[in-house]
Amino acid sequence: MAENGLEFSTSIQFLKGVGPSRGSALENAGIATIKDLLYYFPRRHLDRTGITQIKDLRESTWATVVADVMVCGERRTRRGKMFEATVSDNSQLLKLVWFNGVEYVAKSLKVGDRLAVHGKVESYQGKQMVHPEYDRLAEGDDPLHSGSVVPIYPSTGELKQVGLDGRGFRRIVRNMLESLPDVQDHFSDTLLSQENLIPLNDAIRQIHFADQPELLKQSIKRLKFDEHFFLQLLMALKKDSIQRSGTKALEDESVRANQIIENLHFELTKAQNRVYGEISEDMKHPTPMNRLLQGDVGSGKTIIAVLSAVRALDNGMQAAVMAPTEILAQQHFRTFKKFLKDYDISIALLTGKMKSAERRSILEKTRSGDIDILIGTHAVIQKDVKFENLGFIVVDEQHRFGVNQRGSLVEKGWNPHLLAMTATPIPRTLAITYLGDMDLSIIDEMPKHRIPVVTKSVLPDRLEKVYAFVRDEVQKGRQCMVVFPLVEESEKSDLAAAVEEHARLSKDVFSSLQVGLIHGRMKQDKKDEIMANFENGDIDVLVSTTVIEVGIDVPKATIMIVEHADRFGLTQLHQLRGRVGRGTEKSYCILVERKATERGKYRLEVMERTNDGFEISDEDLKMRGPGEFFGEKQSGFIRYRIADLMTDGNIVKKARKAAFALVEKDPGLTDKDHSFIKQRFDQEYAAYRDSAGIS
Ligand code: ADP
Ligand code: MG
Repeated sequence: MAENGLEFSTSIQFLKGVGPSRGSALENAGIATIKDLLYYFPRRHLDRTGITQIKDLRESTWATVVADVMVCGERRTRRGKMFEATVSDNSQLLKLVWFNGVEYVAKSLKVGDRLAVHGKVESYQGKQMVHPEYDRLAEGDDPLHSGSVVPIYPSTGELKQVGLDGRGFRRIVRNMLESLPDVQDHFSDTLLSQENLIPLNDAIRQIHFADQPELLKQSIKRLKFDEHFFLQLLMALKKDSIQRSGTKALEDESVRANQIIENLHFELTKAQNRVYGEISEDMKHPTPMNRLLQGDVGSGKTIIAVLSAVRALDNGMQAAVMAPTEILAQQHFRTFKKFLKDYDISIALLTGKMKSAERRSILEKTRSGDIDILIGTHAVIQKDVKFENLGFIVVDEQHRFGVNQRGSLVEKGWNPHLLAMTATPIPRTLAITYLGDMDLSIIDEMPKHRIPVVTKSVLPDRLEKVYAFVRDEVQKGRQCMVVFPLVEESEKSDLAAAVEEHARLSKDVFSSLQVGLIHGRMKQDKKDEIMANFENGDIDVLVSTTVIEVGIDVPKATIMIVEHADRFGLTQLHQLRGRVGRGTEKSYCILVERKATERGKYRLEVMERTNDGFEISDEDLKMRGPGEFFGEKQSGFIRYRIADLMTDGNIVKKARKAAFALVEKDPGLTDKDHSFIKQRFDQEYAAYRDSAGIS
């Protein structure tokens, strides 16, 4: 390393212009080392094309101007203090106004400062912006005169307190870049030219101080590619190691599965047939299947699980089914028994709350191979469970479990063919990002004769009409569910709301009907009893907290009333709606709007507009962003600093191709050309293991 040159690992406080107090403020902002600062990318960039002249500002639009402070100062108002600055760019005047944080602004602005200001234009005695974002520009920083691109950094109150506002921040970044030796690229020149990428050293400098807008674009592209590449590399390596690990090939055609298909009281859809074909093909190989089956609620995934399990059995192996909740495990148990009743197949249910004698007996029979199919919750992969020869496992509603099911199986020394199923349609870019080591099968077709559920959002004053309608439907032999959401802590709990509503409905509204109540705090036996009563029709109206969200399949249930529907997320609403419309009768989903926000209202509109799970999950993703959609846990490997899953579809595809090609050529990353890739990957992986607590 060059003399007085910086290294990636150098502590930030040794950077020129930092020192201990700024150092600790930076550390609190997550910037502990030179590398952290290097990768602390600007939030926006300011160049000539993004700047509007004050005379051209239009009311109610967002705009950026560059202008000088002419006058500024605090003023008293009836309600307290405010700060006002008038700025000019020689075309016109613009007033900037602050009602909050007045003291800080007063300290940081003075007459003569040149500012880049970003905000919404209002008209009030001339043009003004309230609480604009602003950045003081240093000499030479001015994009209008220098033609340069000015980086705008995310800043915090604490950073500003120690003089690290936009201008201060730019100064230390400049200091860093000046004493930073060239950054070693992890990609070879061949790869760079193949992917049309600029070198890392250029990208990482230009992202901070770009000479021209075009170079900035190239830098962004390169750095996004990097982030996607290393995640895809993880996926490629995982997939490769799964493929290297051997398992039993289940080559024999399954006579019983074929018989079951013949004897079904319905015909498999084309999509179901195709998917079962894909699974059978996977199972024939001595490498374990690792497949994700996506299919909207009600698309018929369970029968696919049944057939695949029987295929394993016919090859002399055992099968397991894992469901996220006890209720769902119970239902699978019943469904499997129903489909397999004509065969000598032994199926057992293992739950967490079983009596110990019963449990011991099931475990014993699982170990000896007397049980063919073991169904349960997480209990199925607990420590004490041993199989004689587990050949296949289904993980239903896999998104409920988090990411790495295969990981926990392999830790137990198992390596069965694995089929994960999910009713949450995952947009393609996300699927290959988060589940990129899995193969994908999609059921994109509903069983015939399904009538789409009619969805209506109503205000509470319409409820009497809805109740009357429920009474009519029950007269015709149908059933209804009423669901309550989890509500905020300060308010009544969902449990209290459900209990109260159950009392009200059974006493007044539906006094002539059988009204049941189910919620998560009930004892398992009680829950089972109530679900059984609902399934066999002894309960007409079932009031519940969201425990029924996944799983249950009651064809006679034709009405779903969702209370406080505006509080549910889109995916959840779609899942709930999927609980009706499973039979041949017309079904209804009534969404009761209580105190909806704009977003809440919009969600209800989406639900009224479409039944298409893919469309709904796209909307959901747009509203919530991928982190929330998936749970941050899953995006933990690379902390995305610049990548954006919503818009990077093409880059993701290219990065994936490159990563998979690399692993195919050099699975151990031992080639000298790949040593820097390996080094960087190992660093990322170590950091990931630390943060995710993986040992
Ligand atoms: P999900 O994909 O949501 O798990 P299920 O497997 O529970 O859906 O299927 C929903 C209902 O549709 C079940 O009652 C199931 O028996 C039925 N079903 C599955 N496939 C078909 C089909 N091809 N034709 C008609 N009904 C079907
Ligand atoms: Mg299901």
